[in-house]
Order: sequence, then C-alpha cells, then structure tokens
Amino acid sequence: MARPIIAEIHLDALRSNLETLRGRTAAKMWAVVKANAYGHRLAEMAAAFSKTDGYAMLDLEEAILLRENGWQGPLLLLEGFFYADELPLLDKYRLTTCVHSDWQIEALAQAKLNAPLNIYLKANSGMNRLGFAPERVNAVWHRLRELVNVAEITLMSHFARAENPDGVTQAVQTMERAWEGLSGPRSMANSAATLWHPQTHHDWVRTGVVLYGVSPSGRWQDIADSGLRPAMTLRSELIAIQHLKAGDSVGYGGRYSASGPQRIGIVACGYADGYPRVAPDGTPVLVNGVRTGTVGMISMDMMAVDLTPCPQAQIGAPVELWGQNLPVDDVASAAGTVGYELVCALAPRVTSVTV
Ligand SMILES: *Cc1c(COP(=O)(O)O)cnc(C)c1O
Repeated sequence: MARPIIAEIHLDALRSNLETLRGRTAAKMWAVVKANAYGHRLAEMAAAFSKTDGYAMLDLEEAILLRENGWQGPLLLLEGFFYADELPLLDKYRLTTCVHSDWQIEALAQAKLNAPLNIYLKANSGMNRLGFAPERVNAVWHRLRELVNVAEITLMSHFARAENPDGVTQAVQTMERAWEGLSGPRSMANSAATLWHPQTHHDWVRTGVVLYGVSPSGRWQDIADSGLRPAMTLRSELIAIQHLKAGDSVGYGGRYSASGPQRIGIVACGYADGYPRVAPDGTPVLVNGVRTGTVGMISMDMMAVDLTPCPQAQIGAPVELWGQNLPVDDVASAAGTVGYELVCALAPRVTSVTV
C-alpha cells in the first residue's frame, strides 16, 4: 500500500440501512446508486442492496454492470437516455427509462425494439430542472400510451425542498392535479421525503443518500436517532509531527498561525483524495479517536491537524477523516457543503475495501 489513506465501505451498515428504511415505508424501493453508489464503489458494494426492489442510476454503464453481474430485477435510468442511439442497449438490458423531454418520446416512437420498455414519465413539480410542465402531463401520457415500444408508465416527479417540513405541499398539489385521471404506479419520494413525508411514498420511493447513512438535510442530528449508520469511513494516519512556536504558520498561504507552542500532525489526506480544500481551520477530525480540528489550508495530498487534545498521538496514529465515529455531515457543514458532495467526491486514487 503506497499511502496510508483508505476508504472502508461497511457492508453491514448498507444492509442495515436498507432494512431500516423498509421498516418506514410500505412502498417498493429503488436503491439509488448513481455516481458510483455515491462514491461507495458500486461494483464492490451492490450486493449489500440485494434485498432492494430495484436499482436506480444515471449511467448506462452502471446499469449494465449490475445486469451483467446477475441482477434480474428492475433497473431505472433516472434521467433516461441521453441519445437516441442508446435505445438498443436499453432494450437489450431491459432497462426502465425516465422520459422527460419531447425528443425522447419521438426517439421511442421511431426505435425498433425487441420488446416494449417500462417508462417513468417525469413531470416538473417546481424544481424546473427536468420534466414536462404539469399541464402537459395528461397529453404526454396519452401520446406515450399509444406507442408500441412503451409498456408500463409510472408517474414520476422529484422534490426540490423535501428536507423542509412544509417543502412538499405545493409540489404534491401540483402533481395531484397533473395526474388526475391517469392510472399507473406513482413515484415521488427521495430520501428526505421517505423519512419525513410519508404521504408522498405512493408505489415506489427512490432513496439515495440515506442508504449510505448520510443526512439529506445536511445535518447529522436530523437522522442521528433513526438507526441509520454511516457506510463509509475515510481513514488515514499521521505521517509527520511538527512543533510550532508562537507566530509559526502552517501550510500554503500561512492561513493559520500558532498563538503559542503547539504540536500539530500531518495527515496523508488532501483535496486530491476528495477532502474539501475549502475546509476552514477547526474542521472536525479524529486522531486516536479524539476529536480535534484541522489547521491551515488543505493541500493536495496532506493536511495539518491540531494535536493539543491528543498529546499521546505519534507518527502512525490513526486518523478518521469521516465515518462511523465522525459523521461526514459534520465535516461537510464545517466546509459549507453537504455530505452528498463529500462522499461522491471520494477520489479514484483512494483505495477502498469492503468490511
Ligand atoms: C438522486 C435522485 C434521487 C435520490 O436522492 P436522495 O436525496 O439521495 O435520496 C431520487 N430521485 C432522483 C430523480 C434523483 O436524481
């Protein structure tokens, strides 16, 4: 092993999170595994979700990987196909596709497929990103219903603000109107709605970030009592120790300077590993299991941490950047982002092991 940094992927946490969420909904579950399973390395961890009803992702490659590894259940492309010439692959691998734009309908109308595809008809409930305007949904549904290449149509929408207590009310009303008189299964809820808005569960929930034990609100406290467990631990070690005197500075730009004698540790982890460069002084980190904070600018391959609370720590001392003892949400909020971004940004150069 070239560097001591490693990402542990906790399969038991992934399995138990899926079970915990099942306990909260009667709906079927899409395990959302886009972005390489939110950085958790899809190829290695996918089996941990084998009790799911289906896997949902963006990349065709990820869907094909799961199919070729033997998954025979549903696979959903959350943004559908990006080019019409992907349709033969959707046909071959029996993928369910989202349809959000007129050109996709025309591509489906013209494709020569061996068998019709299940589709998710995506409506725009206020996010204004993907999807048909609510007032068009009825006509679009009827147009799709005529196509020989279309099998089951599921009515789908996606929330922009489900982490807020009143964040779904308007979107739900919009969709109730848009879907009036249309039959077929419905799917609205992401992680936040699955946790906090049970009236939105309908037939299929689409849980992503919570399956990995990361909070959809950005605040760990919001899920701390839910039984969900962080599924990724990013670990490294101290590779050097420095003794500062008053006025000595640390790292590029000298952003931090010591106000008195101070022992600091240098950790083998930097922004090229996926750690946020913008993390300010004091961003939480565990050394020897003791909570301390970063000092100075995060470098590409290294960072410095204050060893004042852990005077015993020597070279080789274990460092947890985030994980089972330090929620990634806490690191993310110190750095002005959300846990989603940090786990997804785990760099390919970081070795991962399933444990
Ligand atoms: C990513 C995604 C989800 C899952 O979102 P989480 O907040 O991670 O649960 C659900 N639906 C769609 C369409 C998505 O793109």
